Amino acid sequence: MMDLLLPEFVLWALLVPMGLIGLLTLASRLSQRAGERRAVRGRIICRLCLHAFEDHGTATLPECPGCGAMNERGRSRRLG
Ligand SMILES: [Zn+2]
Repeated sequence: MMDLLLPEFVLWALLVPMGLIGLLTLASRLSQRAGERRAVRGRIICRLCLHAFEDHGTATLPECPGCGAMNERGRSRRLG
């Protein structure tokens, strides 16, 4: 009887860790994406010189380190 159950046990012993690894990689990928989103939130692209910089301060109009222009924080990307 034990000999018949052995292949099944081996199958589970292989499938369960593989499933766990798959779940872990999925979770890590999701957390990585969340981290990228967090990083993008502080990223500002200058509307004048297109210099990309990060600002994590509290200023409503972060100053571009490249040209000194004041840039609006957030999604507002008015061109021209
Ligand atoms: Zn600039």
